Amino acid sequence: MHISRPLAIVTHSRCLAHDTGGTDHPETPDRLTTLLKKLHASPLREQLTIIEPRQAERRWLTTFHDEDYLFRLEECALSGKTHLDHPDNQLCFDSYEAALLSAGAGLTGIDLLEDKDNLVFCAVRPPGHHAERNLALGFCFLNNSVLAAKYWQQQYGRRKILIIDWDAHHGNGIQSAFEEDPDVFYISLHEHPTFSFPGSGYAEETGTGPGHGATLNIPLPPGADDKMVLNAFAGKIAPAVNAFAPERIIVAAGFDGHRDDDMSGLAYSTELYGRIGEYLAAWATKFCRGKLLTILEGGYHPGSLADSATAYLNALSNYG
Ligand SMILES: [Zn+2]
Repeated sequence: MHISRPLAIVTHSRCLAHDTGGTDHPETPDRLTTLLKKLHASPLREQLTIIEPRQAERRWLTTFHDEDYLFRLEECALSGKTHLDHPDNQLCFDSYEAALLSAGAGLTGIDLLEDKDNLVFCAVRPPGHHAERNLALGFCFLNNSVLAAKYWQQQYGRRKILIIDWDAHHGNGIQSAFEEDPDVFYISLHEHPTFSFPGSGYAEETGTGPGHGATLNIPLPPGADDKMVLNAFAGKIAPAVNAFAPERIIVAAGFDGHRDDDMSGLAYSTELYGRIGEYLAAWATKFCRGKLLTILEGGYHPGSLADSATAYLNALSNYG
């Protein structure tokens, strides 16, 4: 008899208190509430455990971010300013706490995975993959995936980490954190930087110095569909993952490549995210004893985000 695997969802109600300033901003609390409602209404509800994250401690934040940036972020939120570094990055008094919880979700998730859990999904906001060492960018303040990779290495001694990022946009912050590091392999599939924010992620960017070859960027033309993504997985991504043989895998999961999402020109279906989930489940089984950490990045059409994330998690939970 087929048995679905348990899924731990790491999320916190205080992530909803991050207010981006009204109806004009796409990164809304509704993204999370719609997603969680959908999961609780789906057959996956039997598999779910909801876990509250801790706030990421200063010593882990400074594995990537500069001290003066962290003070700047905290001061900006607590003093009532409306944005940090660019008007895109709206925040409010509660945003600093929400950012600490989003970053902490990866750490809490890793503790669960190193104990007895296998599948962890961090349903958090603000997102993280554009955040740089000392710069907020693209709705991101703390780089949740980077901090998770550092924590896995330094707290648990897992050396070879794969970060795979299929958000519609290039995760510039993840790339810059690890471009010189041969132990963290960053793979990003995104809309071509000529047409899309943040303007990085060309195929020629393959890592620098000792990290040469440990960055794989796959830019896709506007209008790219499921077939192009699946071809990339089969032809480029799978051989690269197999050659790297990761000890642990982090997924920076953005769902804004969906055809209903206005934040990119990509045209993915909901079902594609299930197919991607099958790849990830197979690699987690092969290399990581089934353990997989997924952290929510973008996805700005709440209904499509909820459906796509559910399709992805369903594939993970029912693999094999
Ligand atoms: Zn995005």
